[in-house]
Amino acid sequence: MTVRSAAEGADDPRTQDLKNALVRTRERIAAAAEAAGREADEVELLVVTKYFPADDVVRLIDLGEREFGESREPEASRKVAAVRAERSDISFTTDMIGSVQRKKAGSVARWARRVHSVDSLKLVEAFDGAATRALDAGERSTALDVLLQVSLDGDPGRGGLPAVELAAAADRVLACPSSLRLDGLMLIAPLGMEPDAAMSRLAHIHSDFVRRYPGAVELSAGMSGDMESAIAHGSTCVRVGTAIMGPRPILSL
Ligand SMILES: *Cc1c(COP(=O)(O)O)cnc(C)c1O
Repeated sequence: MTVRSAAEGADDPRTQDLKNALVRTRERIAAAAEAAGREADEVELLVVTKYFPADDVVRLIDLGEREFGESREPEASRKVAAVRAERSDISFTTDMIGSVQRKKAGSVARWARRVHSVDSLKLVEAFDGAATRALDAGERSTALDVLLQVSLDGDPGRGGLPAVELAAAADRVLACPSSLRLDGLMLIAPLGMEPDAAMSRLAHIHSDFVRRYPGAVELSAGMSGDMESAIAHGSTCVRVGTAIMGPRPILSL
């Protein structure tokens, strides 16, 4: 493992690029929050490191970041383990933000703080079983936070539940209080919809949802291209990849 040597040194050019990109991204978040009359610290920045190596996560940790997002198994499990081995004295969290096959729920429940992309009753059931097993085995110490992914256009390729199906899924999460916690809603804005239109619809769905589920205040919305609009409409967590990491590498498998 060459992680430590690759990430060491403040003059490492990749570390400098990441540092500059983090500053620019935090400036965007702060400006968007100010424009919306909100505090910048109401919006969590999840740095999305999918497709990028563990070395980059170590660099980000050394730059002070502690909250990450991953979207693919087993890439995420391996990377979290590699980073933990390199920075065993630092606690950091990783959220699952991508679509999850039910058979992968078991491995995701071992490392994920939250899952943003729960979009079926069957997946809620799979995570109930998976989180229960991980808690019993001492592989996690807290219930798994669940966000329900909303679909505004029914596009199965992007996942998500139509708004009318959210309550059934939320009730199913609340029926598993020892393994799951209902955290809020998540959106990947539909292709071809104006971000402001999408985020404004999401904000209405979320305010109805919070009226019924008062604890579920989190709203995970906004990526590199649409974070300003998401923050204007109440996002509490932006998931930013490209604007910090650069274009995703094409992996040769
Ligand atoms: C990759 C990904 C992101 C980050 O997207 P960027 O446009 O690169 O910022 C956010 N959310 C999800 C669910 C993703 O898969």
